[in-house]
Amino acid sequence: MGWNDHMDEDDGFGDFLTEVLPELDDAAAGITKLVIDKGQDVLSEKQRWVFQNHVLDIYVTKECKRCGIDIPWSEMYGAHDNGGYCGYCDHMMLKEDKL
Ligand SMILES: [Zn+2]
Repeated sequence: MGWNDHMDEDDGFGDFLTEVLPELDDAAAGITKLVIDKGQDVLSEKQRWVFQNHVLDIYVTKECKRCGIDIPWSEMYGAHDNGGYCGYCDHMMLKEDKL
């Protein structure tokens, strides 16, 4: 435990990876666990490639499609789930749906 022992500036990245973990295939999950545990610095070049292409490229949403803000790590998994929106917009759109 304790990804934050290794990643002091972490602002939810480890939590995000933990949320993504159950959806990954074995190879990507193994590498992601390593990142959660020890950080990206320990990855080999090949592992880094897998992590980038099979995890980050798929699950990371850079900015919200509606308001354009940088989506924080804490909302990143939600953004993947809701099609690319920050928590605020997702919430607002749900509200609009109900009106
Ligand atoms: Zn937004």
